Amino acid sequence: EESVLAEDMGSRIMVFVRLRPLGKKEEESGARSCVRIDNKKDVYLTEYALEKDYLRLKRVRGRHFCFDASFPESTSQQEVYSTTTAELVEGVLQGRNGTVFCYGATGAGKTYTMLGTLDNPGVMVLAIKDLFSKIRQRSYDGNHSVLLSYLEVYNETVRDLLSPGRPLVLREDKQGIVAAGLTQYRAYSTDEVMQLLQQGNRNRTTEPTRMNETSSRSHAILQVVAQYQARDLDSVGTRVGKLSLIDLAGSERALATEQRTQRSIEGANINRSLLALSSCINALVEGKRHIPYRNSKLTQLLKDSLGGACNTVMVANISPSSLSFNETQNTLHWADRAK
Ligand code: ADP
Ligand code: MG
Repeated sequence: EESVLAEDMGSRIMVFVRLRPLGKKEEESGARSCVRIDNKKDVYLTEYALEKDYLRLKRVRGRHFCFDASFPESTSQQEVYSTTTAELVEGVLQGRNGTVFCYGATGAGKTYTMLGTLDNPGVMVLAIKDLFSKIRQRSYDGNHSVLLSYLEVYNETVRDLLSPGRPLVLREDKQGIVAAGLTQYRAYSTDEVMQLLQQGNRNRTTEPTRMNETSSRSHAILQVVAQYQARDLDSVGTRVGKLSLIDLAGSERALATEQRTQRSIEGANINRSLLALSSCINALVEGKRHIPYRNSKLTQLLKDSLGGACNTVMVANISPSSLSFNETQNTLHWADRAK
């Protein structure tokens, strides 16, 4: 069987769904919830249409999806972290790279999941906190380093979010593909990290028409490199691992994109990195030998961090609003194919 083969080759991707709560404004504008999550696994999506009297909604049809885990509205940031990312952090401490993506339409909860707020920090902060506490327990000599890089891919241009300036050039060297001149910030505690990342997020590209809002076409990539001396049975060895945490661009145009030709993608200036990521994930899931990393900046940057033994996690963020039905359906289909 194909899926068994893929698992044997270790390229299965863990796929999770997170449903955000219905907002007050959405409720006021007549939206109702069209998603239900059961058993922390099953997702039921219901399509509604207006009755002939234009006053009531009637149920048209339902669809069912199932993922490694699905998180209902009430799920805490800590639970999302523990279920999706804690194992990858453990891998990083053993010297394996790992990657977590948040995928979904604009407004579905990607940034909330990845960055979160001061009161409810997200996966990025919780992962670093966990890394620090585990390294301190396991470090042989107390010498360790946690280095943070935060960068953006926007319109196939790579920028440093910790030290904004000119675009960065990607170079291939012995260690893989690196962004030349990228800041590596050495963190000493979790406390300073939230502020650093919030500032980084403010440095993300905004659309000229909506100056205060991060562009829905911007990908933010946090790379955390952890290094420490670990004691094995009777020897001491250096462990280095890298965790990549990615707040992807809005997926609302991704489906339209897949049906386009290469030429019209370029003409329409469509999100090449998101499209290339889809191709790489499909190739990984199908167990293909050739993974087309070279097709975009995002996938080049992740070349050493995708695939391998279960080290890739996808969190598909969805809104419950009946007004976002199409986007939610597209996201669930996309996530279903990544399994
Ligand atoms: P995206 O980054 O996908 O565009 P955001 O993370 O900015 O979406 O979320 C949109 C809005 O919904 C924000 O106001 C955010 O605070 C809120 N939100 C998203 N997810 C949750 C959640 N799980 N719990 C509470 N509020 C949420
Ligand atoms: Mg966002």
